[in-house]
Amino acid sequence: MIKPILQLGNELLRKKASRINNFDNKSLENLVRDLSDTLNEAQKRFCYGRGIAAPQIGESKRIALIGTPSFRSPLVNPKIINASTRKFEIWDSCFSFNTTFFVLIDRHYKITVEYFDMKGERHTVEAENKLSELLQHEIDHLDGILVTDRMKHRKGIMMRSEWIRNFKTCTCKKK
Ligand SMILES: [Zn+2]
Repeated sequence: MIKPILQLGNELLRKKASRINNFDNKSLENLVRDLSDTLNEAQKRFCYGRGIAAPQIGESKRIALIGTPSFRSPLVNPKIINASTRKFEIWDSCFSFNTTFFVLIDRHYKITVEYFDMKGERHTVEAENKLSELLQHEIDHLDGILVTDRMKHRKGIMMRSEWIRNFKTCTCKKK
């Protein structure tokens, strides 16, 4: 089911989400289906975004759905277990402010993330560059942290229209 995405200012986005202890059950499946439906709809609507975290649809649980062409998986209880000291700069946005604006932030270039699948099996994924940044963004949501908290400086903010003009990475076909 497509759920409303909570918006910046909503206190549920600021809560530290709780760990999932029960796997392989209907309620977890339903939550992942809602995340998937909501992510698909938001990707179409905003022509942007590769992931969504459960707190964004009002479920304060440690689960995020990653939806990139090369890596699509729910991550249950994801945790960064290794991070490079090397960082890189990126203009980032979020469905929780409807991708209205972008902020300049730093992210670890490379990370290793431990996570569990829907059946409770443990996995690790090594990610760098854009995937690394995405995983850090979604894991932040589980800790109540939004990209606006990570702005490098006060001038590190631009509207979506300027971001498109500067980076031309929007492939939206919408006229
Ligand atoms: Zn976000």
